[in-house]
Amino acid sequence: MKFETRAIRIGEEPDMENGSGDVVIPIHLSTTFARRSIERLPKGYEYSRTGNPTRHALERKLASLEDAKFGLAFSSGMAAETTILLALLKKGEHVIAFDDLYGGTKRLFRTFGKRFGIEFEYVDARYAENVRSAIRENTKLIWLETPTNPLMKMCDIGEISEMAHENGIIVAVDNTFATPYFQRPLGLGADIVVHSTTKYINGHSDSVGGAIMLSDEEIYEELKFHQNSSGAILSPFDSYMTLRGIKTLALRMREHERNAMRIAGFLESHPKVNRVYYPGLDSHPQHGLAKKQMHGFGGMISFEINGTVEDAVRFTESLQLFSLAESLGGVESLIEIPALMTHSSVPEEERERIGISDTLIRMSVGIENVEDLIEDIEGGLKRL
Ligand SMILES: *Cc1c(COP(=O)(O)O)cnc(C)c1O
Repeated sequence: MKFETRAIRIGEEPDMENGSGDVVIPIHLSTTFARRSIERLPKGYEYSRTGNPTRHALERKLASLEDAKFGLAFSSGMAAETTILLALLKKGEHVIAFDDLYGGTKRLFRTFGKRFGIEFEYVDARYAENVRSAIRENTKLIWLETPTNPLMKMCDIGEISEMAHENGIIVAVDNTFATPYFQRPLGLGADIVVHSTTKYINGHSDSVGGAIMLSDEEIYEELKFHQNSSGAILSPFDSYMTLRGIKTLALRMREHERNAMRIAGFLESHPKVNRVYYPGLDSHPQHGLAKKQMHGFGGMISFEINGTVEDAVRFTESLQLFSLAESLGGVESLIEIPALMTHSSVPEEERERIGISDTLIRMSVGIENVEDLIEDIEGGLKRL
């Protein structure tokens, strides 16, 4: 079955024998499930934290889209990340991470590392040799995000996974930006895929959630155990919302990309824009890698305007169609200034080192009509 078909069908096969044949999985609100005898659970469910039919349908769909054997749905992307750290790491171990990650991920690593005696080392993973030279005896995990947020840097998942496996190290990839429609890290060699389903996967800015997909049974059992212990599960209602959102993932991603490509080209040719970061542009230094490991370039664009911080603020505040807001991946277009908003928790000198200037603007290109979007941007730039 192809991607679009799986996104619609998997996990929601109508139950004609015991159920009423719903073509959409019902929202199972029951917190507990009755059994015939102590030993016999009719469908394997006992208590909703441990397992819930609506969440389970979502987990099957999520796994299928990443070509994974197992999926787990969490109450947020951060809950999914925390569960990976809890399940895999112990005191004295070492983690290598890409230096340009989602701000919240860095905050989690910083606090978790300090408190539990785990060292997180950041490298510029665009160059795989930087990852290799950071590997130590006690390295347990390599954490990647590609393309990164907000600078659209990329790393070679295949090459890094190969060197990790030679050293018995687990590779986790945050695939939130690309989505499984455009990039499937497990097929490239990674062990674990993480998502904030809040973004493209749900796609309608109305549910916060997270997911992990993987095929290694041993790691899956560890993760499932820790998810159940800590309770970081997605609610039945949010599971339903996310199931509903996913059905149009392919359609949406194609449209996000089409609009982003047009807007990236427009920005690149505009005199008031200094630099555009979009993996689909020939001018992107890693355009070749994007073409090799991704099936498309996504809907996220960052750019530098030719001006001051005040100009950047004025520009973002003046737009009508782009809502000034954090987050990304919904059908509506959003705009923000990472240094002042999503990445304000990253210390200034660190932002400087990785290239997040105060005039960098990030946009999540929605699926409105692209002519309307360009008109809005053009008007904003004119007022500068
Ligand atoms: C939003 C985001 C997260 C965190 O997910 P939440 O659902 O907000 O907890 C992690 N990684 C990336 C790349 C994100 O964009």
